[in-house]
Amino acid sequence: MLTCQMRVASDCAVKFDFDSTLCTSAGPEEIEAIVKEVEIVSESAAIVHIDAGARAGQLDFLPGQYAHVQVPGTDEWRSYSFACKPNDGNQLQFLIRLLPQGVMSDYLRDRAQPGDKLRLKAPLGAFYLHKVTRPLILVAGGTGLAAFLGMLDEMAADPARCPLPVTLFYGVTQVVDLCEMERIQKYAEQLPNFSYHSIVMKASEGWQGPVGVVTDLFEEHHFNGGEVDAYLCGPPPMVDAVKGWLDQREMDNSDVHYEKFSAS
Ligand SMILES: Cc1cc2nc3c(=O)[nH]c(=O)nc-3n(C[C@H](O)[C@H](O)[C@H](O)COP(=O)(O)OP(=O)(O)OC[C@H]3O[C@@H](n4cnc5c(N)ncnc54)[C@H](O)[C@@H]3O)c2cc1C
Repeated sequence: MLTCQMRVASDCAVKFDFDSTLCTSAGPEEIEAIVKEVEIVSESAAIVHIDAGARAGQLDFLPGQYAHVQVPGTDEWRSYSFACKPNDGNQLQFLIRLLPQGVMSDYLRDRAQPGDKLRLKAPLGAFYLHKVTRPLILVAGGTGLAAFLGMLDEMAADPARCPLPVTLFYGVTQVVDLCEMERIQKYAEQLPNFSYHSIVMKASEGWQGPVGVVTDLFEEHHFNGGEVDAYLCGPPPMVDAVKGWLDQREMDNSDVHYEKFSAS
């Protein structure tokens, strides 16, 4: 088919199979920012609040996209998904896993101070919330929750954006790794179509919820007869496992979008 000869005769959706930096008004840019606060939100993760207010005008990104962030005081850079929606003052959040040892992890645990300067390059990546035309399945592993906090912030600000059911599945290793549960509960109060389920891999005292991997939470009725849009974000093994699970089902009328948090 010669696409250059096609004429659109009705409303139509065009899917571009390339990086979404080409979809925002401008490409990635490098900006100066400062660390406002490192908020420890679980035994293994922190939300880093960054003030990029020195940039004139709103930093334009799509929730789900990521930034390349310089580790303050070093020449090392790491990738992090925005855990917030774009805003006037460019007050940004990143949800970052604290590894036992790592350049960013060590900085956040041992040296970070409010006022530390850093640089970031953004927006990057092709993982972002597309127009909602089918029920949404959001699957987060660990700090993969970050991308969905951004998307859900955006939906909560404009509930008309998600007229269809949105279900978040959130899996972590241990109960002490769960974070932002109050924020997730608040989305459930703001968004009538939103529900969520959490699961931990290792049982511990006091946890009465399910134990296992995130696919153990899936039930046929979540998948709307195979017509959903699935968004997966987190460690590569979890993303691959969920993709494998979906591949085995009849999901011809579904799109699967994913972001793998490989070492960056
Ligand atoms: C597109 C993209 C988006 C990302 N978004 C996020 C995000 O929002 N939140 C987040 O926490 N992480 C995210 N990551 C992962 C992140 O960029 C870093 O790799 C991670 O934070 C480790 O950095 P570090 O400097 O602490 O450790 P490093 O100094 O890079 O590594 C220390 C050691 O840990 C290993 N390692 C590195 N990363 C991981 C990992 N993810 N799991 C297990 N072992 C690892 C390394 O191989 C090395 O042995 C993202 C990665 C990509 C590619």
